[in-house]
Amino acid sequence: MSSADPDLARLRFVLTRPSHPGNIGAAARAMRTMGFVHLALVAPARFPDPEATALAAGADDVLAAAAMHATLPGALADCTLALGLSARRRGVSLPEFDPRTAATEALAAARRGEQVALVFGNERTGLENDELARCHAMVRIPSVDDFSSLNLAQAVQVMAYELRMAALAAPAPAAVIASDPPAGGADMERFFDHLFAALHAIDFHKGRAPITIEKRLRKLFLRARPDARELRVLHGILGDAERMARLAGRTASEQAAQQGQDRAAGAGEGADGGQ
Ligand code: SAH
Repeated sequence: MSSADPDLARLRFVLTRPSHPGNIGAAARAMRTMGFVHLALVAPARFPDPEATALAAGADDVLAAAAMHATLPGALADCTLALGLSARRRGVSLPEFDPRTAATEALAAARRGEQVALVFGNERTGLENDELARCHAMVRIPSVDDFSSLNLAQAVQVMAYELRMAALAAPAPAAVIASDPPAGGADMERFFDHLFAALHAIDFHKGRAPITIEKRLRKLFLRARPDARELRVLHGILGDAERMARLAGRTASEQAAQQGQDRAAGAGEGADGGQ
C-alpha cells in the first residue's frame, strides 16, 4: 500500500460535512483497499461513531488517523491542488475533469512533492459553491443525467480506484521534487484576503457588489497556481496600491480642507471688502 509508493501518502480524501457516520466508515474502507490512508473530515455530523467503525470493516487505522477540521480551508491549508467531486455543475465555471484524467493530474502533482486533496460533499446537498470555489478543478463521475448522484463512499471508491490504476501504470520515478512548488491553500487564502481588501481600498467596485469579481479572481489565481515567491511579489504590489490609496485619500481630504479654508477666508475677505 502507501508504504510501497510514498507519493500516495500526499493524496488525501476530504469529506465535507458528512451526515452519515456509516459513509465515513465505508469511505475509509474504499480508500484502504486501494492503498490510501489519509482521510480528513470537515465538521462531520457524528464521529467517531460505532456505525463508522462497523462499515470500515477493519480499516480502523484510517479512521483512527482521520484529521478533523472545522472548515474546508483548514483541511486544505497545505494543499497545492484540490479537486472537488460534484455530480452537478453548479454554475461554478471551474475546469472539469473526468475521474481518470483527474487521477493522472493528482498523481503527477503528488509525485512532484505536492499535497493533493480530493474533496467530497455532503450526501444531500453536495459541495456548496463556496466549497467548490476553494478547488482548482471539479471532477464529475460521468453518471447518467437523470440519476447522477452516487453514494458518497462509492464516489470515493471510484476515485481511489482510478488513483491506484494511475499509480500502477506510472510507478514512482527516482525522486523528482519541484524546486518551487505552488503555494498552499492557507497562503492562497491570505493572498485573496489581501487582494480583496486592496480592491476596496482603491475603490475598484464603485458601489457594485464584489462577489462576482471576487469569484473570477479566485478562479484566475487558483488556475495560475503561483509559488511563494510570486505571491510575495503580488503582496508587494497590493501593499503599494493600498499605500497609494491612503495617500490619495489623504491628499483629497487635505485638498477639501484647504478649499474649505479658502472659501472661509474668501467669504471673510468679501465681508471685509464690503465694509
Ligand atoms: N445531491 C448531491 C449529491 C451528493 S452525493 C449533489 O447533487 O451534489 C455526495 C458526494 O458524492 C458529492 O458531493 C460528490 O462529492 C460525490 N459524488 C456523488 N456522485 C458523483 C458524481 N457523479 N460525480 C462526482 N462526484 C459525485
